[in-house]
Amino acid sequence: MKYISTRGGCPEQGFEQVLLTGLAPDGGLYVPAELPRFSLEEIRSWQDLRYAELALRVITPFIGDEIAPESLRQLVEESYANFDHPEVAPLRQLGENQWLLELYHGPTLAFKDFALQVLGRLLDHVLTKNNQRVVILGATSGDTGSAALEGCRHSERVDIFILHPHNRVSDVQRKQMTTVAGNNVFNLAVQGNFDDCQRIVKAAFADQSFLPDDRQLVAVNSINWARIMMQIVYYFSAALKLGAPDQTVSFSVPTGNFGDIYAGYLAKGMGLPIDRLVVATNENDILSRFINSNEYAVTELSHTFSPSMDILVSSNFERYLFDLFDRDTAALTNFMSRFGQQSLSVSEQQWQRVRACFDSVSVDDATTCEVIAEVYRQHGIVLDPHTAIGVKAARECKFDSAVPMISLATAHPAKFSEAITAAGITTPPLPDQLQDLFQREERCTVVANELHQVTDYLQSHMRI
Ligand SMILES: *Cc1c(COP(=O)(O)O)cnc(C)c1O
Repeated sequence: MKYISTRGGCPEQGFEQVLLTGLAPDGGLYVPAELPRFSLEEIRSWQDLRYAELALRVITPFIGDEIAPESLRQLVEESYANFDHPEVAPLRQLGENQWLLELYHGPTLAFKDFALQVLGRLLDHVLTKNNQRVVILGATSGDTGSAALEGCRHSERVDIFILHPHNRVSDVQRKQMTTVAGNNVFNLAVQGNFDDCQRIVKAAFADQSFLPDDRQLVAVNSINWARIMMQIVYYFSAALKLGAPDQTVSFSVPTGNFGDIYAGYLAKGMGLPIDRLVVATNENDILSRFINSNEYAVTELSHTFSPSMDILVSSNFERYLFDLFDRDTAALTNFMSRFGQQSLSVSEQQWQRVRACFDSVSVDDATTCEVIAEVYRQHGIVLDPHTAIGVKAARECKFDSAVPMISLATAHPAKFSEAITAAGITTPPLPDQLQDLFQREERCTVVANELHQVTDYLQSHMRI
């Protein structure tokens, strides 16, 4: 499989190169040159597969022969053996034709484990084969950091540095990052906010001259294609359990960077019969405004009960826009160059295509708490705030009641006690494997909000 940049300004690359980088050199994002497509017959034949087996069927066309099938099988099997539920991504019923897809059974209790457990192993495999080492540098406001550290802590050939805003992540989130053991994992608490962390990471990627010649930076946020690829799998898994491909299903997805729902959009393009894709947002509603009123414009950032969705601009949306512009890289580059300065819209015909695929609802904090309380009363299930937003959006959208609606449960409620307490409910305990989290030793270095503080630290701590 070859990958091309959404901006059309650099040569196509293979899976390995795309895995080992961040943005494309022209500032675009890598997408597959051609989306694989499965027949209904083929999808039907997967109905009884275990999760890891299904994953191999779905991802192999994206990798081609760049990784030997036996190696791929082994690393995918190992990745999902770490999950604390035999089905890996179980479904739970939430009323008539409404379902929850539980994506929080991985080691850090959020859906990001699905991709990052595999990413760490994929990197190690490719780097060993090429006798190469890399440095991962990422900024996090929460879930990505812990999942990335956990996914890479065994990677012999990776040094991973994660920045988070000092004193601005929840206790559980900080503990989950700073207690990951490993001589290749480093936590830096930056004296600034999340945007400052991101700015530093961007600047470091743009000028990597502080690294030795044999080293490069790799991104672990969802601009990394491999993350998106691994997330396509659970759309197939959930739909198959409810009778696909002979039954059509819909999904509601709590959305921040548009990575998770973009994977659902790809699953649909690959032949999975999906009816609606609901983009559920919190008060940071740029995508809702675009989908509902064809207005694409940045506003101010709000801090909400669902911090993993507190995002002003969803980077993966460019991957979708690329298709919406019929892969016209010049038109997309022009559109993106005007973005941020003015409110943008697409043509009427393009907008109708958006609406034919997506619905969107924005949910505020007060409503999020109401939904948490209501679902607890009705079903005895405690939702985390991100998941509650997805459930609310699913219920708001008028959907065909004959089509199962699957809401993605993106995090375990114990991670986000603030919203749950505000909803008047006792937060459930952390699962067994994390019971002693608050007793574990933390490792973290506080640094000033300056690029060179971070690059100096990297230089002196990366392994030779
Ligand atoms: C990352 C995250 C999201 C948002 O996912 P995107 O792929 O960024 O849209 C939603 N919920 C939780 C719990 C997350 O950690």
